[in-house]
Amino acid sequence: AKEAGRGVTCFFEAEMEERLLERGLLEQDLRAALAKGEFSVSFQPLHNCGTRDVTSFEALLRWENPERGKVSPADFIPVAEECGLILPLGRWMLEQACTVAASWPHPYTVAVNLSPVQFQRGNLPAQVAEVLAQTGLPANQLELEVTEGLLIEDSEGALATMRALKALGVRLALDDFGTGYSSLSYLRRFPFDKLKIDKSFIQAIELDAGARAIVDAILAMGHSLNLRVTAEGVETEEQLAFLLRHDCDEVQGFLLGRPVPAEQLCRSLRKKVGA
Ligand code: C2E
Ligand code: CA
Ligand code: CA
Ligand code: CA
Repeated sequence: AKEAGRGVTCFFEAEMEERLLERGLLEQDLRAALAKGEFSVSFQPLHNCGTRDVTSFEALLRWENPERGKVSPADFIPVAEECGLILPLGRWMLEQACTVAASWPHPYTVAVNLSPVQFQRGNLPAQVAEVLAQTGLPANQLELEVTEGLLIEDSEGALATMRALKALGVRLALDDFGTGYSSLSYLRRFPFDKLKIDKSFIQAIELDAGARAIVDAILAMGHSLNLRVTAEGVETEEQLAFLLRHDCDEVQGFLLGRPVPAEQLCRSLRKKVGA
């Protein structure tokens, strides 16, 4: 039994070592990627729930590496956060998103995701003000998306930063709503303009009466707090019909529009206005 136990330990150690090595290599590639121009930005439309008109676009980071191919942000953002690279990368993303949005032939809002690390370090309000001035994007066309983790980790600091951002005239959205723990009390305390219901609830609408009840309750609560409510991950007409019946404001998902590269979106927007 002792022998077997040692074997298992060795196996885990080897496995751990391999993972650490892999992570180190990922970090190396990630650091080089910014200088090599391997990052790009895609945009996914958000639509008015009733009219289906486009209201805004969410900017989503893309990484394509010659050896790794396309790497999901869900896999590399946590690594970028841990090694600090999220600060220059987040700044780059904000600049790109605002530059592109300022060139659109229609004043759609652009939504940019922010990591809690960007909130906690690097004087975010000054950075945002700088990028707005530099790109000429009006502040009311920029929306910043944050997740609940931020509010739990450092709620006093986060509140001060959010107030400074609001003073610039940008809007704030709470992303992935319903997946954290502290949602209800924080919603009143922080100056959000919008709630985004996490896609896990939307995707369970057809299957699960519990999910329907939760979505309905979030919509009612959001509206009673004067927030706009967006449903993420809408993939079917049935989900959209349910959301419309329950007064959802906005929808985002593969049913009405997938993320597309910046250049492709610019071309189709110009075609639409005949410019
Ligand atoms: P998120 O902010 O919740 O972004 C929405 C994600 O849902 C995107 O995945 C989008 O492609 C996906 N999605 C949209 N509609 C549907 C749908 O109908 N069905 C399904 N199954 N998925 C849908 P993506 O682009 O892979 O991004 C994953 C996450 O990575 C984002 O989740 C966000 O947390 C993070 N992320 C992406 N770009 C950035 C960035 O610039 N900065 C930071 N800090 N995080 C980012
Ligand atoms: Ca988001
Ligand atoms: Ca989300
Ligand atoms: Ca997410």
